[in-house]
Amino acid sequence: MSRKSPSQPEKPFRFIVDAHEDIAFNAVQGRDFKLSALEKRKLETPPDSDKGIATVGLPELLQAGVRIVFATLWAAPCSMPEPKVEQCYETPQQAYDLARKQLEYYNDLAKDPRIRLIRSRSDIDSVLDPEGSRLGVVLLMEGADPIVVPKQVREWFEAGVRIVGPAWHATRYSGGTHMPGPLTGLGRELMGEMERTGIILDTSHMAEASFFEALELFHGPVIASHSNCRTIVPTDRQLSDEMISALLAREAVIGTVLYNEFLQRDWKQTGAIKSKVTLSDVVKHIRHVCDLAGDRLHAGIGSDFDGGFGSGSIPAELDTAADLPKVGEALGDVGFSQTDIDNILGGNWVRMLKRALP
Ligand SMILES: [Zn+2]
Repeated sequence: MSRKSPSQPEKPFRFIVDAHEDIAFNAVQGRDFKLSALEKRKLETPPDSDKGIATVGLPELLQAGVRIVFATLWAAPCSMPEPKVEQCYETPQQAYDLARKQLEYYNDLAKDPRIRLIRSRSDIDSVLDPEGSRLGVVLLMEGADPIVVPKQVREWFEAGVRIVGPAWHATRYSGGTHMPGPLTGLGRELMGEMERTGIILDTSHMAEASFFEALELFHGPVIASHSNCRTIVPTDRQLSDEMISALLAREAVIGTVLYNEFLQRDWKQTGAIKSKVTLSDVVKHIRHVCDLAGDRLHAGIGSDFDGGFGSGSIPAELDTAADLPKVGEALGDVGFSQTDIDNILGGNWVRMLKRALP
């Protein structure tokens, strides 16, 4: 007999939206998204030190109740110090080619009946059935170098891209993580083209000067798909309170990254101890965004699982993406209501998408 009465839902949330996963980059590098993380681990012995111990597979996402992911098109610049990847770009055309290859991967993936590419607001509800088993994929270009010239953003939109983050490290468009600076001339042009095209601006990774300039120039919908709070982890990769407030003034949603180095000050991936970071650290970042907002309608999850770190670098209670519901349990343990949890785990992102997609 089940311990749970029918009035008690199996899981403490309706569905999860994860606003940042580098699915195609990993797949092109040989990690089969359709295999579970545990199956990948068997194939990857010893684990690849650059990628870390696998945490993501389609089976875990579906099991966790993830119904939408923002999946990246991310091309690696050859100038990137570490890790060195085989397929990197030195020219805009090479960046374009790499991102097109990832786009083709997603188009192929969408032939699987369990996957649906989300292009418009009318695509959303079909994947949100809590009993369903489909994953909606929203395409997010992380680092805009694959856009060869600003006007080409229209071509990417027609191909299905709905969100563009101009920066990663610095790009031809924007200052980025560890590479401060304003938007370039091309970057300013890109803001106008993105707004006219109806693209969502992802400010994660943007250098502060670029960030504020972009918010002035771009009047469309804005998010930070995967950024934590600088007041807790003081590096330029995270958002200052002033940046968070500027995002909130635009009704943005901010995705908390589930990477220990971004969750706790001074945690380092090399030689670090997984158990030092727990879901209580995740709650601190989410709570800080909620406190600045004065509500619980602007925080979300952008796990970045598979973004260059593995199971050893995520909070103690988490092993694979199947554990994502535990974030909701942790919020419940400190008094967040069921409605708040539903919103933070998925509802806030869905509301943003319904407002921003064509
Ligand atoms: Zn990133």
